Amino acid sequence: MKQTVQMKQVQEKMKPGIITRDGFLGTDARNLIDILVEDDALVKRMNLDHQSIAQRMIELRDAGLRGLGNFISVEPHYEIRVDSVRGKLPCPFGDPGVFPKTNTVVRNLENNREITYTDLNIHMIMAHGFYEGRGSPFRLEPDDLVHILDITVD
Ligand SMILES: [Zn+2]
Repeated sequence: MKQTVQMKQVQEKMKPGIITRDGFLGTDARNLIDILVEDDALVKRMNLDHQSIAQRMIELRDAGLRGLGNFISVEPHYEIRVDSVRGKLPCPFGDPGVFPKTNTVVRNLENNREITYTDLNIHMIMAHGFYEGRGSPFRLEPDDLVHILDITVD
């Protein structure tokens, strides 16, 4: 798909060393627009939308906050740790505001799988349907989010 100039500028900001050391694209050589379109199709195939995925990420992050940086048990079968690191990050898509560097680790004890995401991940999924490029340290596979966070279609 053809990439707009604006989208190209966003992709530039996602390179390593601009907003974060590792950037947001990993080893993904695709255009940003193609990354977005493919993940959007993946999510739609599961009959979900980015908002419901992000909503569940927020819910579990909030449930884990009271552990103050330690793993705590969260019903029905999770251990969640929320670490706040000093500092804030802007969104590479250029909308106003900055996001605290919060890492949420969710362990699903039922299927023994774990996933880590940041507040910026939540925002980028919610507002832009962006899960990062393949090979990026914070790439989140929509399918992993769905299975680890038990996201169901209502
Ligand atoms: Zn944004």
